[in-house]
Amino acid sequence: MRCAIIADIHANLEAFTAVLGEIEHQGGVDEVWSLGDIVGYGPDPVPCIELLRRYNHVSVAGNHDRAAIGKLELSFFNPLAAEACRWTAARLGKEHVRYLENLPLTADRGDFLLVHGSPTDPVLEYVMSTGIAARNFAFFGSAYCLVGHTHVPAAFKEEDGSCRSVAMTPGIGMMLGADRLIINPGGVGQPRDGDPSASYAIYDSRSRIFRLFRIPYDIEATQQKMLRAGLPVQLATRLAAGR
Ligand code: ZN
Repeated sequence: MRCAIIADIHANLEAFTAVLGEIEHQGGVDEVWSLGDIVGYGPDPVPCIELLRRYNHVSVAGNHDRAAIGKLELSFFNPLAAEACRWTAARLGKEHVRYLENLPLTADRGDFLLVHGSPTDPVLEYVMSTGIAARNFAFFGSAYCLVGHTHVPAAFKEEDGSCRSVAMTPGIGMMLGADRLIINPGGVGQPRDGDPSASYAIYDSRSRIFRLFRIPYDIEATQQKMLRAGLPVQLATRLAAGR
């Protein structure tokens, strides 16, 4: 089975469309695994929810998905994120609210646990260091855990109660074996590792190869939509910087 692993779409339809187009170009996938934050920040929350729903997919809830439906207090957000969240909430119809309400906080897919933040705190914790990753290995039973939330591609390998970071190069496959891993495929709609192109991964359960991809998209089109919508200017400019 081939799975696309996507995280942090963040209502960026241009980035999401570019990723899905590339996935189709590579022969398509059997399932799409979404690691949450479908909405928030970007100008197209409803089209992104509707596009994801056309695919055979499973998605967990991210902090922005929860906040947009009033299930997470905006005090957890910085002022720009909170402003974008209020903008998003005003655009969701009943059907979209119901879809976001029904997203689970965790999902099991065979050897993988899917969460947005971390196994310890699926909504809010950022797995952004070997220390945080090491502590989290005790909180899931499967071989591998997929996380989003940081918008930075990363892989952490469990080693004798400790943990080390594993380099991932776009396009180069990583064979998953006996070592337990926490893997982040990076962000689709608002990458933060200095590379503004959309980030995602493909996993093939037959070959057991996990491969990261980066895809350029029409950043200016997204920025124009955000400015026209009255979303905070800084949220538009950061897309070009990949920060
Ligand atoms: Zn996010």
